[in-house]
Amino acid sequence: MSKIFITRKIDDAVIDELKKSFDVEVWDSEDEAVPRDVLLKQAKESHALLTMLSDQIDEELLSDAPHLKVVANMAVGYDNIDVEAAEKAGVIVTNTPDVLTDTTADLAFSLILATARRIPEAADYIKQGEWTSWSPYLLAGRDVHHKTLGIVGMGKIGQAVAKRAAGFDMNILYHTRSRKTEAEEQFGAQYKNLSDLLEKADFVLVLAPLTEETRGMIGAEQFKKMKDSAIFINVGRGPVVDEKSLVDALRNGDIAGAGLDVFEKEPISKEHPLLSMENVVAVPHIGSATTETRYIMMKLAADNIKAVLNGEKPLTRVTR
Ligand code: NAP
Repeated sequence: MSKIFITRKIDDAVIDELKKSFDVEVWDSEDEAVPRDVLLKQAKESHALLTMLSDQIDEELLSDAPHLKVVANMAVGYDNIDVEAAEKAGVIVTNTPDVLTDTTADLAFSLILATARRIPEAADYIKQGEWTSWSPYLLAGRDVHHKTLGIVGMGKIGQAVAKRAAGFDMNILYHTRSRKTEAEEQFGAQYKNLSDLLEKADFVLVLAPLTEETRGMIGAEQFKKMKDSAIFINVGRGPVVDEKSLVDALRNGDIAGAGLDVFEKEPISKEHPLLSMENVVAVPHIGSATTETRYIMMKLAADNIKAVLNGEKPLTRVTR
């Protein structure tokens, strides 16, 4: 019987379905990532791995996984997997695109609103009993409606954010390597080179994947180009941004604030300077975290495994 190793506790219904046809083992923790030595040992014995972003699937693991046929990542991003090495080893890699698009776009737009309107700060303020009187500029933030949003990485999630932004009467700019004419027609989005986008946007939103090309794409030079009233939002991947330059830009007033779902190193240390800044809204990589969407992602990852182990075509294969 083929063996599946699942690297984190997921919904019992999804596991039980797999158990009907396969030998399934689970790293039974919701919070703690599977230790590397356990993952390597399991990879050696398994035909399929259902993995999370916190698991590194690299050459070392793949070179000692003689039975492995499929790695099903429970995420749309797959920067934790060496896809080239997997291809060479004859291992199929799958991800979970589409099913999390709207949920992640909701979170991205929430971060825009929360940062601009200082929601976490205002919520703390009232809970700390600091509200003594109404005053004209009490916790005054910045408008979102009718402002300019610059989306770096106008893919599925970027376009779902553009749809939301259009409802807020925002002017939408975007930057990708290729033009997205559909988004231009549907939301009036305008294509810009990165430099122009950074100079003109009131909100800069990063939604590009982490690749060798995008790593460190937003650094000191890019923050200098942004308006000093700009709010920077990252829902893509932490290492797309040089975090030290982001801290400097916030400290020097080169930009006005930041809303962050992803970080260079996750989990971020609680001593990290970003976490003590009033103008930063930080959340722990919860882009796709709704119970509905997470269940669908688990199910899709499991269905991809089932398909490959049954000799069928996977539903959502990653190709380079
Ligand atoms: P997608 O449809 O593949 O979109 C990615 C977009 O990025 C594409 O439009 C691509 O366009 C663009 N891109 C790629 N390389 C680029 C570059 N060098 N410069 C500028 N743009 C570039 O993927 P998606 O479903 O929208 O997801 C996007 C990313 O969001 C994922 O890869 C993942 O890292 C992140 N994500 C985060 C969360 C979270 O919880 N925070 C949740 C889901 C996804 P071109 O190819 O034309 O350049």
